[in-house]
Amino acid sequence: MKILVCISHVPDTTSKISFIDNNTKFNVDGITFVIGPYDEYALSKAVDIKEANGGTPQITVLNVGGPETDPTLRKALAIGADDAVRVNAFPKDPLFVAQQIAAYAKDKSFDLILMGRESIDYNGGIVHSLVGELLGLPSVSPIMKLDLAGNKATVAREIEGGKEVLELSLPFVAGCQEPIAEWKIPNMRGIMSSKSKPLQVLEPAASSENTTYKSFELPPAKSGVKLIDAANVEELVNLLKNQAKVI
Ligand SMILES: Cc1cc2nc3c(=O)[nH]c(=O)nc-3n(C[C@H](O)[C@H](O)[C@H](O)COP(=O)(O)OP(=O)(O)OC[C@H]3O[C@@H](n4cnc5c(N)ncnc54)[C@H](O)[C@@H]3O)c2cc1C
Repeated sequence: MKILVCISHVPDTTSKISFIDNNTKFNVDGITFVIGPYDEYALSKAVDIKEANGGTPQITVLNVGGPETDPTLRKALAIGADDAVRVNAFPKDPLFVAQQIAAYAKDKSFDLILMGRESIDYNGGIVHSLVGELLGLPSVSPIMKLDLAGNKATVAREIEGGKEVLELSLPFVAGCQEPIAEWKIPNMRGIMSSKSKPLQVLEPAASSENTTYKSFELPPAKSGVKLIDAANVEELVNLLKNQAKVI
């Protein structure tokens, strides 16, 4: 059995976001990058499957990105992946990323391709569906439970106001979210062995030029909190009506 886990390299959630070059580029200065939190669920689930099956599934992690993402891939190796692949290209847009993942995976016979439900930087939530389409495989997201029995899988998917349980045959593509697995903290042995695990760098497959980013904009700054005396209901109503205009 072989599992591919796609890893996005995203700013830490506490990062202060700003743009450069006339608001056309994300400013990476001083930003700490991490494995996408939803991708960590996908990777942790892959490691759980491996542990439950006596270490048989081979786990490959893949990122589409420049050399700056190597430490992120090394962390994934420390968590439990066996080998890593970096497609050496700027992740221009979701279709480009999906084309690169599909080009890599198409002749590798992966039984499962696991991703996060969405990246936490550009939040498209679309790469899994695109990869499924490009490879002619079913894709399902967001899944919060995955049980395997031979060639069959049962997955639980979050839907508005409830959950949906599906049965499907391997191989398929899935976008994962909590509580599919518990995050794994790399131990010292994992960290040491990650340094010698293979990290292959591949040149990108040919792809069409899909989009050009014109500009980014931050949301308007929030105004300060105004505290009103609990006894002063009149003032509260006045402000909600005439200033916030919500009543
Ligand atoms: C340093 C940096 C700069 C960027 N600059 C721009 C920019 O200027 N303009 C812009 O619009 N976009 C930019 N991107 C974002 C990039 O285009 C998106 O990450 C990519 O298009 C994926 O789309 P998404 O984030 O919507 O993924 P989603 O569809 O939300 O991701 C779903 C899942 O797909 C997988 N995935 C996503 N991205 C990757 C990846 N790169 N490699 C492997 N697996 C992945 C993960 O498992 C993820 O959880 C930048 C990204 C980085 C890291």
